[in-house]
Amino acid sequence: MTVKVLKFGGTSLADAGQFRKVREIVYKEPGRRFVVASAPGKRFPEDVKVTDLLYKAMRKAVSGGNYQTRLDEIRDRFQAIIDELEISMDISPDIEIIKEHLAANPDSSYMGSRGEYLNSKILAEYLGFEFVDPAECVLFDNDGKFLAAETRELLSRRLEGVECAVVAGFYGSRKDGRLQTFSRGGSDITGSIVAEAVEADIYENWTDVSGLLAADPRIIDNPKGVEYMTYRELRALSYMGASVLHRDAVYPAAKAGIPINIRNTNRPDDKGTMIVPEMPEWVTADQISGVAGFKGVTIIHIEKMRVSDEAGFTAVILDVFKDRGIPFEQCQTGIDTVTVAVRSEFVEGTVLNEILYDIEKQLDPDDIFVRSNMALIAVVGENNADSCNATSELLNAVNDAGIEICTINQGAGNLNMLINVNEADYEKTLIALYDVIEGQVGK
Ligand code: ASP
Repeated sequence: MTVKVLKFGGTSLADAGQFRKVREIVYKEPGRRFVVASAPGKRFPEDVKVTDLLYKAMRKAVSGGNYQTRLDEIRDRFQAIIDELEISMDISPDIEIIKEHLAANPDSSYMGSRGEYLNSKILAEYLGFEFVDPAECVLFDNDGKFLAAETRELLSRRLEGVECAVVAGFYGSRKDGRLQTFSRGGSDITGSIVAEAVEADIYENWTDVSGLLAADPRIIDNPKGVEYMTYRELRALSYMGASVLHRDAVYPAAKAGIPINIRNTNRPDDKGTMIVPEMPEWVTADQISGVAGFKGVTIIHIEKMRVSDEAGFTAVILDVFKDRGIPFEQCQTGIDTVTVAVRSEFVEGTVLNEILYDIEKQLDPDDIFVRSNMALIAVVGENNADSCNATSELLNAVNDAGIEICTINQGAGNLNMLINVNEADYEKTLIALYDVIEGQVGK
C-alpha cells in the first residue's frame, strides 16, 4: 500500500465545512494514514488566523492588558467547529490551561503552538485517528535550533505501529522541556519530517491553490501552473520568494527522496504540482519552472587594480560580512572587481558604513560604491538544456523593455539565471521575463 502523509494548511481547516472536505480527502485512500494539521486560518480575506489571535492574546498578557476577549474569540472558533461537526469533545480544560499560562508567564512559542495543538486534537477525534503531540517527538536544542537526526529517530519510533494519526504541525519541544515553534508557516516542515520518519511514498501538502504557479499572480495576470518541478527548483523558487511551501520544508522529504505533491483542498481532483527528485523523462528539455524575486537588495561594488593576480582578495571582503553574521545573496568577481549583493535589512543604519570602513581599511580599494533599493530576480529551470540561448532571449526581453540590468549571474549549472535591477523596475522585469518563458512552463 502506498503510504501518504497529508499536511493540511490553515485555510483547509478554517471551519467545519473545510473539516468535512479534509475528511473526504483522507478517507478516499486507505494509504492516507498520517495527517499533519495547521491551526485554523482565514475563512474570508478580512478574517484573523487563530495563530495571530493567540499571539495577540499573548501580547495583551505581556503588556498587562485584558486578554480575555481574545481568548474567548479563540475558544469560539474551535467550539463552532466542534458544534457544527457534532464532535463529542470538551476543550474547556485546554482553554483553562492556556488562560493560566497567560496569567502566569506568557511565552510566545507556547502560545503560537496552541492553535495547531487544539485543531489537531479536534481533527483526530473527527477522523477517528490517534492524536500525536509533537512536544513528545519533535526536538529543538535550547537555542531553538531544530534537531533533525534526533527528531527522525524519535518520531519514527513514536509512529511505528500506529495505524493512523494526526500530528500537530508547527512545534515541538526544546531539550529543556519548553515548547518551540518553527518560523511562521512551519507546519509544512512538520509534514515533511513526518513523511521522512514514516518513509512515506508521497508527502501531500494540501492548501488553497492547485500547485505552484510559474510567477506571482499579484504581478502576472493568470500565470500558468507547473505540473512537475524538482526539489532544487522548488528550493530556488521558494528562496526567491515564491510562497506555497515553507522554504525549509523541502529538505527532509528531499533527503529521503519522497515526492511532494501540492494539492488544493477546495479542488481535490486537480493534480497540483508534483515535486520530484528528477524530472520525468516525458517533460521536455526546455521546461522552465518559474520566475521569482524580491526587493530590498543592496549592492556593494569594489575595485582594485591588479587584485585579480592576488589570492584571497574576495575572501577578505566576504569575511567582513561573515564576521557580522551577514549572509550574502550573490558575490561576483570580475577582473580586479568584486560585487556583493546582500539583503538591505542586514545593512541598515550604521552597519553599511562600518562594512565600508572595514573594507577600506583592510584592502585600500581604488573604488567602492553602493547601490541600494535593488531587486534580485531568478529564472529557474533545471531541465533547460540550452541555457545560453534561453539566457540571451531573457536578457533581450529585459533590455527591450528599457530596463537597466545591474548584474547578471549564471553559474555552470542550468538551474537558474539571476539578475539585479532597480527596485522600481521589479514588476516590469518580471512581466518581461514571464512573457519569454510562458511557452516553456509546465510542458
Ligand atoms: N499556524 C502557523 C502560522 O500561521 C503555522 C502554519 O500554519 O504552518 O504560521
